[in-house]
Amino acid sequence: MQVLDSSAFIHEYHTTDDIASIPMVREELEGEASYRYDADEGSGMHVHIPAAGTVEKIQRAARETGDSETLSETDVRLLAAAFELDATLVTDDYAMQNVAEHLDVSVDVIAKEGIEEQRDWLFQCQGCGREFDENKDRCPICGSELTRKNPSNA
Ligand SMILES: [Zn+2]
Repeated sequence: MQVLDSSAFIHEYHTTDDIASIPMVREELEGEASYRYDADEGSGMHVHIPAAGTVEKIQRAARETGDSETLSETDVRLLAAAFELDATLVTDDYAMQNVAEHLDVSVDVIAKEGIEEQRDWLFQCQGCGREFDENKDRCPICGSELTRKNPSNA
């Protein structure tokens, strides 16, 4: 089971695992991201409302890690839902990851793919058009300057 935060719906996160979220996430979403939430709910996503006692437990944990100022109400409830469901929390939020770790809640990071993609820049020679996977001052073949090129736009 995975508990999805708002960014999971915004970034079209896909998983074959069972998923859950909370009603407050739906309230934060707009446009296509909110349609994705509705579609997921329609196809069996568990909409979870964590117990007040668990929410307090999360708030306590957040104070212990020094993240309580940073976490929104939604963040706290997402953590509570992941804790109650013994699920993996899917989020990019660093404060949430930090509190999750403190509570032994496992976390999956959405942006991982994005970061790897950025490392995958290609550099193309403006002179001869050869491509290199690392930046150099000059093209070793013809001596022209290299420009950076995103492989996903190539
Ligand atoms: Zn060249």
